[in-house]
Amino acid sequence: MALRNLRYEGDEILRKKSREVAVVDNKIKTLLDDMVDTMYENDGVGLAAPQVGILKRVVTIDVDDGNVYRMINPRIIKQSGEQKDQEGCLSVPEKKGMVARPMNVTAVYTDEEGNEVAVEAEGLLARAICHEVDHLDGILFVDRTLEE
Ligand code: ZN
Repeated sequence: MALRNLRYEGDEILRKKSREVAVVDNKIKTLLDDMVDTMYENDGVGLAAPQVGILKRVVTIDVDDGNVYRMINPRIIKQSGEQKDQEGCLSVPEKKGMVARPMNVTAVYTDEEGNEVAVEAEGLLARAICHEVDHLDGILFVDRTLEE
């Protein structure tokens, strides 16, 4: 088990766009393992690579639905509906805010074996995917909070 250091709001790496992963090699697999460990250690439901200082399109998510998602190059290809709920972020520990997200999203990503996988997500999982994909484009939830 290896933990990575979290980056926090104000760190400019969180505002940069992450690069696509060209090859799923051992370095990417180690990054995924470390991100899962770091996510659990900090009681998070999701983590994106820029949050541990790596500008690659890699995301981990566990919303307690029985799966640990390890996503490489995730893309949202379909979205519908709307949900408004409180959101937080391990990189913005002192804040929470209402954010509107789609209720349903379909995402495609590459898994650790290099296979293209699609996931149809609803509710919290849909929210987590949107939040983490935002990180890969340098967007934080505080950019999207609704006026109370
Ligand atoms: Zn976050």
